[in-house]
Amino acid sequence: MSEKSCEALDKLRQAIDEVDGQLIDLLAKRLSLVADVGEVKSEAGVPIYAPEREAAMLNKRRQEADEAGVGGDLIEDVLRRLMRESYHREKDTGFKCINANIGHVVIVGGEGKLGGVFKRMLELSGYQVKTLDKDDWHQASELFDGAGLVIVSVPINLTTQIIDKLSQLPRDCVLVDLTSTKAKPLSHMLNVHQGPVLGLHPMFGPDVASLAKQVVIYCDGRYPKQYAWLLEQIGIWGAKLTVANAQEHDNAMTLVQGMRHFTTFVYGQHLAAENPNMAQLLDYSSPIYRLELAMVGRLFAQDSQLYADIIFSSNENTKMFSRYLTRFEEANTMLLNGDREGFIDAFKNVSQWFGEYSTQFLDESKQLLMQAHDSRAV
Ligand code: NAD
Repeated sequence: MSEKSCEALDKLRQAIDEVDGQLIDLLAKRLSLVADVGEVKSEAGVPIYAPEREAAMLNKRRQEADEAGVGGDLIEDVLRRLMRESYHREKDTGFKCINANIGHVVIVGGEGKLGGVFKRMLELSGYQVKTLDKDDWHQASELFDGAGLVIVSVPINLTTQIIDKLSQLPRDCVLVDLTSTKAKPLSHMLNVHQGPVLGLHPMFGPDVASLAKQVVIYCDGRYPKQYAWLLEQIGIWGAKLTVANAQEHDNAMTLVQGMRHFTTFVYGQHLAAENPNMAQLLDYSSPIYRLELAMVGRLFAQDSQLYADIIFSSNENTKMFSRYLTRFEEANTMLLNGDREGFIDAFKNVSQWFGEYSTQFLDESKQLLMQAHDSRAV
């Protein structure tokens, strides 16, 4: 490069450094404003995630960015990342306590992962939380005395037998469970406790930084007016609440969780048996394959007991896996027979079944892949 070009480049780079500095100052200012918003929201008991406000704001900024020649997609990406940061920070402010007169909360299994998340969120909202873990049953009656909310968050395979021990709760105490299956725990809770009962299934793991936009499924049990405050409280934490019938929930979970975890497990087992060189696989991976590999690999960084419990939790899972195996065998037969036409016909049938969702999913996955491409991992 000529000396003149070098000088010109240096000057331009300096100008970019200055703009980056201004951007950092602006980001600091924005985050500080958001922190102020967080405090106002916390006092007023406004949910940290406001979907309409978020959508309206993004639309407006997209238009402004388009007019300025910056591009709507770019500003949306930047703002979404900033909003995520803001949600994480907003939770540190604490949350409004919706029901200060509830008495204390007891979390059975509160030393565990998900119980720990609820303990933290409830404490951030001003509730007094006590835990009853596996060695604490000798003090159970003391702990339950005066409790306004008891949450069961124990390993799935122990859930119903532990619920059956909860016959001595105060009459008005709200009894809740967080189990990934809903029908059996709900029916045991309704049997053992005559007061308000609610089934919850948080659709997130313990590693989430904030509950903003996380889904919590709830199944009504008994006396919904008496636990409406708890749902409102969870809404303030930013979660999206979705009501479900317990049996329908369990049927859907056969696909959403059981099937997904099981096929991931088998793929992981297959990889381990084939024993490829992981570093080499990663070198050869496009972002989409790396993402797929990460989705498989992350399962094995988690608790084997939890996944065993989810997979072995229902007969429906077993039946579903058997049907899946049949389809795998049918597909394999096409392959063995060289039935390319059969494969293409089957492919078209599935495309037809997905209908408009397939283009929607193509768009959504494009966004995810772009983010994966920008991430440090790729
Ligand atoms: P975990 O193993 O981390 O926690 C379970 C806790 O229960 C532990 O502290 C354990 O010591 C305690 N415990 C065991 N036996 C007990 C007993 N007899 N009495 C009292 N406490 C006892 O499990 P987790 O991942 O926190 O899961 C707890 C519940 O949350 C499960 O029902 C699971 O389905 C549900 N859940 C978990 C996740 C997740 O990603 N971890 C997500 C959604 C729902």
